[in-house]
Amino acid sequence: MDEVVGSQFHGRHRVLHTNVELARSASAAVKSTLLSRRDLDFLLYEWLRVDELTKQERFTEHSRETFDGVLDLCEQLATRYFAPHNKKSDANEPTFDGEKVSVIPEVKEALDAFARADLLSMSMDAELGGAQLPETVARACFALFVAANVSTSGYVMLTIATADLLAKFGSTEQIDTFFGPMMAGRFSGTMALSETQAGSSLADILTRAEPQEDFSYRLFGSKMWISGAEHELTENIVNMVLAKIPGGPAGTKGISLFIVPRFLVNPDGSLGERNDVVLAGLNHKMGQRGLVNTVLNFGEGKFTPGGSPGAVGYLVGEPHRGLVYMFHLMNEARLGVGMAAVALGYTGYLKSLAYARERPQGRPATAKDPSTPQIPIIEHPDVKRMLLAQKTYVEGGMGLVLYCAKLVDVEGNEDLLDILTPIAKSWPSQWCLEANNLAIQVHGGYGYSREYDVEQHYRDNRLNPIHEGTHGVQSLDLLGRKVTQRGGASLAALRAAVARTIEAARAAGGEAAELAAQLDTTFQRLVGVTTAMLGSGDIDAALANSAVYLEAFGHIVIAWIWLEQLTACNGRPGNFYDGKRQAARYFFRYELPKTAPALDFLESVDRTTLEMCDEWF
Ligand SMILES: Cc1cc2nc3c(=O)[nH]c(=O)nc-3n(C[C@H](O)[C@H](O)[C@H](O)COP(=O)(O)OP(=O)(O)OC[C@H]3O[C@@H](n4cnc5c(N)ncnc54)[C@H](O)[C@@H]3O)c2cc1C
Repeated sequence: MDEVVGSQFHGRHRVLHTNVELARSASAAVKSTLLSRRDLDFLLYEWLRVDELTKQERFTEHSRETFDGVLDLCEQLATRYFAPHNKKSDANEPTFDGEKVSVIPEVKEALDAFARADLLSMSMDAELGGAQLPETVARACFALFVAANVSTSGYVMLTIATADLLAKFGSTEQIDTFFGPMMAGRFSGTMALSETQAGSSLADILTRAEPQEDFSYRLFGSKMWISGAEHELTENIVNMVLAKIPGGPAGTKGISLFIVPRFLVNPDGSLGERNDVVLAGLNHKMGQRGLVNTVLNFGEGKFTPGGSPGAVGYLVGEPHRGLVYMFHLMNEARLGVGMAAVALGYTGYLKSLAYARERPQGRPATAKDPSTPQIPIIEHPDVKRMLLAQKTYVEGGMGLVLYCAKLVDVEGNEDLLDILTPIAKSWPSQWCLEANNLAIQVHGGYGYSREYDVEQHYRDNRLNPIHEGTHGVQSLDLLGRKVTQRGGASLAALRAAVARTIEAARAAGGEAAELAAQLDTTFQRLVGVTTAMLGSGDIDAALANSAVYLEAFGHIVIAWIWLEQLTACNGRPGNFYDGKRQAARYFFRYELPKTAPALDFLESVDRTTLEMCDEWF
C-alpha cells in the first residue's frame, strides 16, 4: 500500500496508471461505510455516462479504467489515512501555545499521503502538470475523503481551491512561485475573505492594501474565521486575501485579491523572511474541529519584513476585480460545500443502516409475543421510514451535485449550472444534515453518545448551511438573481432539462410515466408561482419569503433528479434497482407533496415577516 502513495507524478499517464494498478492490487475488497461504490458506479456510469466524456478532447487520454482506478485509490487512501483519526482529531482540536499551533500528527501523515499520490492536481490542466480528470469524477473521489474525515480533507480542499484561483488569475511569476509547491504539498492555501463585521456582506471589509514602489502591497487589518491559516503542517501557507486599495471604488467594486504568504519566497524558491500575518487566536468550533480556524492579523507589527510595517501582499490580476475573480470560483466552491454535506450525510446513513440491521429491539406492532426473539430494528416500519428518508436525501443530493459537476465538464451549460448552484449548495446542507439527524435517531440513545460516529457527523455537517453563503443568502441569490438573470435564460434552461426528463419517463411508461405527470404538474406550478411572486409588484415581500421558495424549489429539483435515476434503472431487476425504485417512490409520495402548501403560501406574497417589528419579539 505504501507503494500506492509513493508513486511520483511524471506526467498524467504515469499517475493514473501506476497508482491505479497498485490500488487495484492492494485490493478494494474492504467493505466501506464511507460511500456506496455501487451507487457511485450507477450514478457515474449508468446514469451520467461519464465514460462518454472521454470523447471530448480534454479527456481523451482517460478511460473508464482510469476513472475506476482513481476512485479505488481514493477509497484506499481515505480508509487508511483519513478515517482512522477522524474521532481523534475531533477530541484533540488544534492548540496554540502563544508561539505555535499544534495539530495531531496523523493529519500531516494523511496530507502527505494525499500529496504523494499526486491527487492535489487531479483535475488541473495537463500543461500545469495536472491529470485533467473530469470534475464529475474528481468530485466523487473527493467525497470519499470528506466522508472519511471532513476536517483533514479541508486542508486539501483549501489548497486545491487556492491553487486553482492562482492558475486562473495569477501572473506567470506568481504561478511559478506558489503553484508548484502547492501541488507538491509543500505549501498549503487559505481563502481569507470574512472579517468580524463583514461575513455575508463582503462590501464592508476593512482590510486595506497600500501600494509600494516595487509594485507589491502592504496589508493592514484583521480577518475572521479563516480555516487552515496557521499550523506547521506545510512549509508555507499561501493566504488569498480580499482587501481594499485606498482611493478605490466603494463597496464590492473596490475589493482586490492578494497573495499574502506566511513566509516570503526568495527568487530561487527558498523560504525568506516571516511575513507579518499573525495568528490572533483560534476559534473553537462545534464541529470540523480538526481543521484549524483562525483570527488573523495583517500588519500588526510583530514582524517587519524588509524593515517596513505591514504584511507583504502581491496583487492578483487587476486592482478592484478581486470579487469578480472569487465569483469565478464560487460555483465550484458551492458545489464543494454541497458535496461535503452529501458525503457526511451519506456515511451517516450507511452507519445507521448497518446499526439497524444488527440492533435487536422489540417485536412487530401486531405480534408482541414476549417468548419470541426480538427483531432487528430495521424491521420496524418507522425505522425503515428514517432509513428511506436518509437514502432519498443522500442519493438524491449526490445525484444533484454530480449532475452539476458534469455541467462543468461539458461546455455550454452555464445557464443551467447557474440556477442549480444555489440548490446544490443549500439542499444537501439542509437535508443531508437532516439525514445525520435521522442517523442519530436510528441509533437511539447510542446515537447521542460520543462512542458512535453519527453525532460527530451531525456537528461536522452543521457548518454547511452557514459558510460559502448562508442559506438565506443562497435563497436571495436564487429568487433575486438566478431565476430572472439573462432574461430568464437560466430558468428556461432548467425547464428544458426537466421537460426532457419528463418526456423520457413518459416514453418509459408505467410508474416512471406516473411520476413524470406528478413532476410536470408541480414544476409548472413552481413556474407559475415564480411569475406571480416576481410580478406581484411587492418585491420586498417576495424576497422576504425567499428561503421558503428555495426549499420548495430544491425539493422539486431533487424530485427531478430522482425521476432521472428511476428512468436510468430502465426496468432492470435486482435489489439495487428495486431500492432505487422504492426510494424514488418514497420521495414522490412523502416529500414532493410538501411543496404544494409551500407554493400556495408563496403565491400569496405574504408580508408577515416584513411587518413583524423588533419590539414585538
Ligand atoms: C467554521 C467556519 C469556517 C469558515 N471558514 C472561512 C474561511 O476559510 N474563509 C473565510 O473567508 N470565511 C470563512 N468562514 C466565514 C463564513 O463564510 C461566514 O461565517 C459566513 O459568510 C456568514 O457570515 P457571518 O458569520 O458574519 O454571519 P452574518 O453575515 O452576520 O449572518 C448572520 C445571519 O444573518 C443572515 N443575513 C445576513 N445578511 C443577510 C441579508 N442581506 N439578508 C438576509 N439575511 C442575512 C444570515 O443568513 C445569517 O443567518 C467560516 C465560518 C465558519 C463558522
